[in-house]
Amino acid sequence: MAIDFEIPAEAKAIREKVRKFVQDECIPAEEKLIGGGGDYKTILGELRGKARAQGLWCPFIPKEWGGMGLGPLANALVQMETGESYLGALALNTQGPDDATMLTLLIHGTDFQKEKFLKPLLNGDKRICYSMTEKAAGADATGMQTRAVRDGDNWVLNGEKWFSSAASVADIAVVMAKTDPDAPRHQQFSTFIVELPNPGYQIVRDIKTMAIEGPLSHILGGGHAEVLIQDLVVPAENLLGGQGQGFNMGQHRLAYGRLRHGMHNIAMAQRALDMATKHVTERSTFGQPLSNRQGVQWMLADCASELYMARLMLLHIAYKAEHGMDLRQENSIAKVFLAHMVHKVVDTAIQLHGALGYSQDTPLARWYTSIRSQRLVDGPDEVHRWTVGRNVIKAYQQHGTTASAAGGDLI
Ligand SMILES: Cc1cc2nc3c(=O)[nH]c(=O)nc-3n(C[C@H](O)[C@H](O)[C@H](O)COP(=O)(O)OP(=O)(O)OC[C@H]3O[C@@H](n4cnc5c(N)ncnc54)[C@H](O)[C@@H]3O)c2cc1C
Repeated sequence: MAIDFEIPAEAKAIREKVRKFVQDECIPAEEKLIGGGGDYKTILGELRGKARAQGLWCPFIPKEWGGMGLGPLANALVQMETGESYLGALALNTQGPDDATMLTLLIHGTDFQKEKFLKPLLNGDKRICYSMTEKAAGADATGMQTRAVRDGDNWVLNGEKWFSSAASVADIAVVMAKTDPDAPRHQQFSTFIVELPNPGYQIVRDIKTMAIEGPLSHILGGGHAEVLIQDLVVPAENLLGGQGQGFNMGQHRLAYGRLRHGMHNIAMAQRALDMATKHVTERSTFGQPLSNRQGVQWMLADCASELYMARLMLLHIAYKAEHGMDLRQENSIAKVFLAHMVHKVVDTAIQLHGALGYSQDTPLARWYTSIRSQRLVDGPDEVHRWTVGRNVIKAYQQHGTTASAAGGDLI
């Protein structure tokens, strides 16, 4: 099916509305928080009130659940705008890691679970984190060691987790554990909803990472926690999606999360390219503005090409999602590409800013150190490229050409 580049008028209108909200409300609110020392909860509360009053809330959640009910294309356009401000996604209650887990609860939760856990999340009253990775296993999560054993009406969990993002600001954790050691590999694990704080789910520390902490990092993100799970008692009614279904749901959750990072990357890369271009037009060396140098123009050109490809990839994936088409291959290709794209563009912007780029006087250094994680999270590069490569071979074996595994349905 060929791609249709036309963006429907209503999707354009909602993008404009979100753009205006982010520029007029979120960015000034950032200043109030960082420069003015304002109170985070008060400022975010006011911002969320304004967003909801304008109908800007939980973009991809269906209207009957209080969201905007946007389809994949309109949502992608909106997410690219929210990525312009630290407070953009939070203001619309579409921040990671919560957003993807809201979707999981919506699709797989029982009526009881939706009432008790999903509603407060959708209302912005609570936050949720996702605990799958362990020191023992990440890329191949089937190596998880945390065990869940049935005990009457409860399950009892023991083990450890690490890099549970936002766990220290979360009210609910979704925890994966092994329930059936003798089942086939991907059916051994189940997912549990855990209310926090909980004596069985102990946050050992927020792990220090290479990311430079901004003035708002801890309040906004809550860090990435190492967690000790010790005799954690979970009522059986909190088993999410059925026994042995942890993997199916986890993969579904990660699929959306992968794209969301990519959407925000476009906003960040665009800002970095704007900053670099402003800088080279204002700065002269050896008697000429930097922008006169062909070598510098090539650097800008490479960034523009990267951004252009990234936008097209996301639009194509959104288009396929709108039409219910299989997009797993494109999703993996784009996940890897978008992580490298933002890295290259921000790196070029640092280079062109000289020592200023290396300093913390611009946001570039902070962006650079935080986006490095994107080549690891939600499946490291190598695992996605492994899948993509196998699909290339499969396509050749089936069709005598690799086109279908390389965006061949575009034209
Ligand atoms: C900032 C950040 C936030 C995170 N947030 C969360 C979260 O909220 N919840 C959660 O559960 N987890 C989270 N994670 C964990 C993340 O999902 C894992 O780090 C990731 O899955 C990789 O697992 P690992 O670190 O154990 O690496 P490993 O599995 O040990 O792999 C190490 C490296 O080996 C290579 N490799 C692995 N497999 C293959 C292969 N088949 N072929 C070739 N090379 C391979 C890759 O280069 C990989 O980076 C987060 C991680 C980071 C850095």
